Amino acid sequence: MHVAIVGAGPAGAWAAYLLAQRGARVSLIDPSHPREKPCGGGVTGRALALVGSALDIGRLPVCAIRSVRFFDAAGGSAAVPLRTPSALVVASRTDFDGQLLAAARDAGAQLLAARVTDVAIERDSVRIETTAGSLRAAHVIGADGANSLIRRRLAAPFRRHQLSIATGYFAHGVTSDEIVIELVADPAGYIWSFPRPTHLAIGICAQANAATAAALRATVLAWMHERGIAAGARLEPYAWPIPSLAAADFDGLTISGRGWSLAGDAAGLVDPITREGIYFALRSAQWAADVLASDDTRPSARYAERVHADIGAELARAARFKASFFRPRFTRLMIDALRHSARIREVMADLVAGSQPYAGLKWRLAKTLEVGLAWRLMRQRE
Ligand SMILES: Cc1cc2nc3c(=O)[nH]c(=O)nc-3n(C[C@H](O)[C@H](O)[C@H](O)COP(=O)(O)OP(=O)(O)OC[C@H]3O[C@@H](n4cnc5c(N)ncnc54)[C@H](O)[C@@H]3O)c2cc1C
Repeated sequence: MHVAIVGAGPAGAWAAYLLAQRGARVSLIDPSHPREKPCGGGVTGRALALVGSALDIGRLPVCAIRSVRFFDAAGGSAAVPLRTPSALVVASRTDFDGQLLAAARDAGAQLLAARVTDVAIERDSVRIETTAGSLRAAHVIGADGANSLIRRRLAAPFRRHQLSIATGYFAHGVTSDEIVIELVADPAGYIWSFPRPTHLAIGICAQANAATAAALRATVLAWMHERGIAAGARLEPYAWPIPSLAAADFDGLTISGRGWSLAGDAAGLVDPITREGIYFALRSAQWAADVLASDDTRPSARYAERVHADIGAELARAARFKASFFRPRFTRLMIDALRHSARIREVMADLVAGSQPYAGLKWRLAKTLEVGLAWRLMRQRE
């Protein structure tokens, strides 16, 4: 079977690796590598576990994160130590995506360094137009990110309220082993500083219909001055969209049809609270590859069912939780709870590392036996 994969970020490269390994003919189409991608670069333990067999993680330049320091708008703060050095690492996307792409090529995927300009599902195949000519395949995986052309052609573009805008700076020549996160109510979201081996990735994210990139970047700059972060560093600005779907969007996702499927950002699979997308890109790519490599006669339908039942349900929970998450009353209580309870810090450490799903969060908090703190937190999030 010939599979064309558009986009060689984590979703595309991982699907290419898995399919090529199982003997499929894979054309992986992306003109951009090697490249940096606007991103925090936070790779959770669960994401590392998915790709651990293919990457030489020991040779990936990363910052292992020791702790995450949370601030609320009133200046309250609490540090959450992470359990192990691999619970969360931060990497440059040049390095992380570059290693995944190298693994895909080693497994036999052919990289075509061209931009896809059009796609059409025909009777027995998919026709793909690129800046280097056209090709045909039995199936196309759209792994071409938040601005996905494959999504626009074969499903529907994201609407403005379904996107966040993330913007900020790479601050060169400074690093750390602590992530800093400030929870803000307006625009609802958070400002972050993620340390990579040679620089900090600093940014803010808000719904695209709630603020302009220029205003958001000014907020980041003011915050860096206020917190004394990256003073004197060379700043390189960036801005990029992140899919940020509502619960109802996840319930009604259209991510596949005859001859095509979408994975990662192109499918809208990003946690609307944490904006973790790399894990969901890898996970969805894995399922897209699994169904194509199986002898299932309806691989696209099977893929959609799998994503809906698992990732979709979890991300819909996060979207429902999001409305209350950034309210000042909630964030104040959360910082208070983190400062006073080692058990609640452990829950937060697992949430940050991706090992605590939103399903079960309530029970886990209740089981900390921090009755007063947990009860007030849960009441606030309902
Ligand atoms: C500022 C910011 C911070 C973030 N921080 C984090 C974080 O810390 N941790 C985390 O897990 N997630 C984070 N995310 C989300 C994460 O970056 C994405 O979810 C992830 O990159 C999705 O992977 P992907 O493979 O689906 O798409 P991408 O990584 O976007 O890759 C898409 C690829 O498709 C290619 N492409 C696009 N159009 C075409 C075309 N027409 N033809 C050929 N190729 C094409 C592009 O060149 C690109 O290489 C962040 C996002 C932003 C914007």
